[in-house]
Amino acid sequence: MAERKVNLADVAQAAGLRTPIRHQLFIGGQFVDAASGETLATLNPHDNTPIADVALAGAADVDRAVEAATKALPAWRRLAAADRGRVLLKLADLIEANAEELARLESLDTGHPLRDSRALDVPRTAACYRYFGGMADKFQGETIPVEAGFLNYTLREPVGVVGQVVPWNFPLMFTSWKMAPALAAGNTIVMKPAEVTPLTSLKIAELMREAGLPDGVVNMVPGLGTVAGQAIAEHPGIHKIAFTGSTATGRKIVQASAGNLKKVQLELGGKGPNIVFDDANLVAAVNGSAWAIFHNQGQACIAGSRLILHERIADAFLDKFIALATSIRLGNPLDATTEMGPLTSQLHRDRVLGYVKVAREQGGEVLAGGKTPDGDLAKGCYVEPTIVRAKSPRDRIAQEEVFGPFVTVLTFKTDDEALAIANGTDYGLGSGLWTMNLPRAHRFAREIHAGMVWINSYKRVNPGSPFGGTGLSGYGREMGFDAMREYTQVKSVWVNVDAQIPPWYPR
Ligand code: NAD
Repeated sequence: MAERKVNLADVAQAAGLRTPIRHQLFIGGQFVDAASGETLATLNPHDNTPIADVALAGAADVDRAVEAATKALPAWRRLAAADRGRVLLKLADLIEANAEELARLESLDTGHPLRDSRALDVPRTAACYRYFGGMADKFQGETIPVEAGFLNYTLREPVGVVGQVVPWNFPLMFTSWKMAPALAAGNTIVMKPAEVTPLTSLKIAELMREAGLPDGVVNMVPGLGTVAGQAIAEHPGIHKIAFTGSTATGRKIVQASAGNLKKVQLELGGKGPNIVFDDANLVAAVNGSAWAIFHNQGQACIAGSRLILHERIADAFLDKFIALATSIRLGNPLDATTEMGPLTSQLHRDRVLGYVKVAREQGGEVLAGGKTPDGDLAKGCYVEPTIVRAKSPRDRIAQEEVFGPFVTVLTFKTDDEALAIANGTDYGLGSGLWTMNLPRAHRFAREIHAGMVWINSYKRVNPGSPFGGTGLSGYGREMGFDAMREYTQVKSVWVNVDAQIPPWYPR
């Protein structure tokens, strides 16, 4: 690979960063180059200029990381749970102390508007480590009322060395969702951030070391999915893989993990239905629906990407919705007034624009956007907020995940029709509904195929609230007690306290 000379100090200064950008792998508590010496440039999606040449992990580096995680496991799992928690609590404090640095780095690498990185990504990341820091010594086994004379209790033991692979859409937050419960439960980690957005993960590794995390407990191996990701999924020394990404890659992970029958947890794609009934508070529904799809440029698995409108209010809703969408301020993510930044990569921008073509071919009507903005932003990965009316719920734009600022509009006449449309894809992740009718709201909450339902709201997340999907959106849950269950295995212990057991082989 041709070596690219990026002046890290200049990039950092231009982005308002105070500390050096980490660009090496983190293995066994040390920042190191890849065994092959290879690097991959991570780009600023605002203008596609290189930020840093980041070490590119290969299979040999994954081996080194697994070795370090295996070595660190016995001491980490034996540590008192409260002491593991203390490290996570310290980390949460350090994240807050470095909040501006992390927010800027995340915005630089991903294109998240700085106002979102500051107000959401960083505080939610700190909150996640804090929640699981507090959880570490509160998650416990049970005593089971079995037959007289026996004591039966369960232990919740860590799974072991855990492989974690995350996508590029929320790197800072998603690594916390995976690492915090895994660490609280006593596992050690080999984490692979997405190759296009590794920077905040490496910064977190630095803060983990500062928080006192023992060497080897967390290892970061940014690299290509088909190389480092595949090596993690196949590795016989890894006992569980937790993956967030596309459904297509999820299938590959399941196959690759079959060798040693790893435990698998999958958070995959979505095509979130967002239903607006004719009794909804329209102002709130318009605003919430715009947030549901345009936050983070629509690059969210839970995005409300199918806007399902009652036909009685569809025109009034769309007038307001289009006016709002077309007024969203696009711009450099590092400008604090920007409301929507670029998509995270050129490749992805082209993929999203490809769906505008698909929509037109299938008779869809583009009501807003559908192109890159003119002027200065044309050289970055920008796409305007795009609203498209589909002809049928079976159209590709109503079935396939676009993963961009692209919302598909459908209409309905009856509740049953709305439910059929909502449940008419193979995904089942986020969903929303806007209504003042309480029985209807609860009926839909029960009957929608989804892991999360937001009523008169959309896209709320909290470290205590389970997050995950059904169907092609995957299985397993992040956050809350469910995440602790995912990262532990149950051991049942039987003790003969005073049972008089009749002999089975009387002699
Ligand atoms: P992706 O599947 O291409 O990549 C995700 C990660 O997997 C990256 O780190 C990548 O390097 C790695 N990877 C790629 N091929 C691999 C392989 N063969 N083996 C192991 N790892 C491999 O997905 P993406 O395009 O980066 O992310 C977008 C997708 O993620 C969307 O479909 C979105 O819905 C999904 N997503 C889901 C959730 C959720 O919680 N359910 C959250 C965010 C994103």
